[in-house]
Amino acid sequence: MTTVTLNDGRTMPQLGFGVWQVEADQAVPAVYQALKDGYRLIDTAMIYGNEEGVGEAIRTSGIPRDEIFLTTKLWNPDQGRASEAIDESLARLGVDYLDLYLIHWPTPKQDKYVDAWKAMIESRKAGKTLSIGVSNFTKANLQRIMDETGVVPAVNQIELHPGLPQEELRAFHAEHGIVTESWSPLGQGKGLLDDPKLAQIARKHGKSPAQIVLRWHLDLGLVVIPKSVTPARILENLNVFDFTLGAEDLDEIATLNNGHRLGGDPETANYGV
Ligand code: NAD
Repeated sequence: MTTVTLNDGRTMPQLGFGVWQVEADQAVPAVYQALKDGYRLIDTAMIYGNEEGVGEAIRTSGIPRDEIFLTTKLWNPDQGRASEAIDESLARLGVDYLDLYLIHWPTPKQDKYVDAWKAMIESRKAGKTLSIGVSNFTKANLQRIMDETGVVPAVNQIELHPGLPQEELRAFHAEHGIVTESWSPLGQGKGLLDDPKLAQIARKHGKSPAQIVLRWHLDLGLVVIPKSVTPARILENLNVFDFTLGAEDLDEIATLNNGHRLGGDPETANYGV
């Protein structure tokens, strides 16, 4: 497993297991299997409703807590009570600390994310989370929290896949030392993975289209968190460390950019508020 180094000096696995839309009762076997297969980064969120299951799977895996990189997220209506919300997530997960706590969305309508960021800085000082970051933040959102607190997020987790490669935001992240983490990295499995160009590249490498897309994220230096509840796919998505893509593969994948979002637009999304 390759790692990336965060701007706070800590390291993070480059490939992890995402659990959005994994039902509470499915979370235990799915996360348990992912950990047994070798995943060491788990990405959940308060709103996914499966923090208890994630915690149970971590405990039953027998893998020492400090070998697992655990991320959860502050849900939007909790931006005014971030210090209580992190305690609640810790209790549901049954852990003493998080590796990474993210503000889930900026939600411009309520305009509270700067206060949430200040509370997260305090949570890190208190040892409740070792790193802090954001999700779905635009350049303007990032600039504002950096200007108002002087603290640069370790990570910005954003929608990113070959259909939406986010070059401009990635360049901004690189300039400021922010790691880019790709959500819906497989394009949610819809459409993207059926593309004939991907099928051709996959045949050439003896890999699946999903593995080609995951390798693309890794080759770009991104952190990537594919989701699956199918045991064979959980394992397949991890088996991407024995090949790399060539320049012509990358050129071909670049043609899949259609600028189309699968999820909300952070400029206007105000989920839950
Ligand atoms: P994804 O791109 O990981 O796609 C998952 C789907 O792809 C699966 O449900 C399955 O249908 C298909 N799939 C998975 N592996 C496959 C394989 N090997 N072959 C063929 N099909 C396969 O989508 P996602 O779940 O939306 O995103 C991944 C993770 O990102 C989430 O679980 C969550 O942790 C995170 N996320 C974060 C946000 C955010 O706002 N921060 C939003 C969405 C997702």
